[in-house]
Amino acid sequence: LTTVGVFYHPLCLEHDTGEHPENASRLEAIISQIEGERPAGVEIVRPYPASLEQVANAHDTKYIQHIRAIAANGGGYLDLDTVISPRSYKAALMGAGAGICAVDWTFENPGSPALGLPRPPGHHAGHAFGMGFCLFNNQAIAVRHAQRRYNLKRVLIVDYDVHHGNGTQDITEKDSSVLLFSIHQHPYYPGTGGTEETGIGDGKGYTINVPLPADSGDRAYRQTFEEILVPAARRYRPELIMVSAGFDAHWMDPLAGMHVSTTGFGELAGIVWELAVELCDGRLAGVLEGGYDPRALPASVLATLATWTGGHVEDPFGPYHSYHQEPDISGVLKQIRKIHHLD
Ligand SMILES: [Zn+2]
Repeated sequence: LTTVGVFYHPLCLEHDTGEHPENASRLEAIISQIEGERPAGVEIVRPYPASLEQVANAHDTKYIQHIRAIAANGGGYLDLDTVISPRSYKAALMGAGAGICAVDWTFENPGSPALGLPRPPGHHAGHAFGMGFCLFNNQAIAVRHAQRRYNLKRVLIVDYDVHHGNGTQDITEKDSSVLLFSIHQHPYYPGTGGTEETGIGDGKGYTINVPLPADSGDRAYRQTFEEILVPAARRYRPELIMVSAGFDAHWMDPLAGMHVSTTGFGELAGIVWELAVELCDGRLAGVLEGGYDPRALPASVLATLATWTGGHVEDPFGPYHSYHQEPDISGVLKQIRKIHHLD
């Protein structure tokens, strides 16, 4: 029987962003929904914080000290969107630890996935920079931990946050030991993530960007997973699959313009889970990224957990207007299949 470990620590609520879409109520809503519904096969577990050494496997040491110093001096801003409060450094270490613990869970409990719930989120944080609400890259830190601790040669990251995972790409793009797949709205923040960004040096061909037009929804995401992600994953044969689980592509999300439904997120989680079962003995770990609607976010997280435990996906909001026509993305998918030799 599959038990999904959900790694959460209240210290992550102490990253105080004030009036900001990325605030503590996001995690509070997820946790209260899990505790209210008590879905079978879901266990909330306390993570331990990442060590400095673990963070430094993904980040420049001076950058880490810079974040620590801003927090120690009472807080400030990395950019207009990216707040550091006095407790943000501690919260960020704990958030990174949630991703690390999720990796360890799926190795220690064969066939059981895990989900880390960090704040702040991470995928816009690069080797020596933070931006876009992100301080440390929880995903990249977890991947580096997995590679060292379990001696992995191939890790697949599936990033379906609505924004391009530019920070994760910055950390992994020179590296064939990580295959990064990012599907995102484009053109949109942060502006990167075009199809021509495919990796650098030894990592050439190991970054797959799928920029999709606004209004893409369940059908476009499913088509992209089937036509790009699945063949790329089968060719790569990962030993671990990681998910940058952002839910801001939901049609209710206030920040972006995609039309994925709660059911749709359950389906994406299902495709990734089937890949993990087929390719790497069910070793699957996710970390939360974005998702800013107070009702759609917890529902989408619960849909993900229900999919991974074989439970029933509840979708209180339904699909985006049923008459809605999604843009035709066949052209861009064909181009990506050609660039990455997937035919
Ligand atoms: Zn996002």
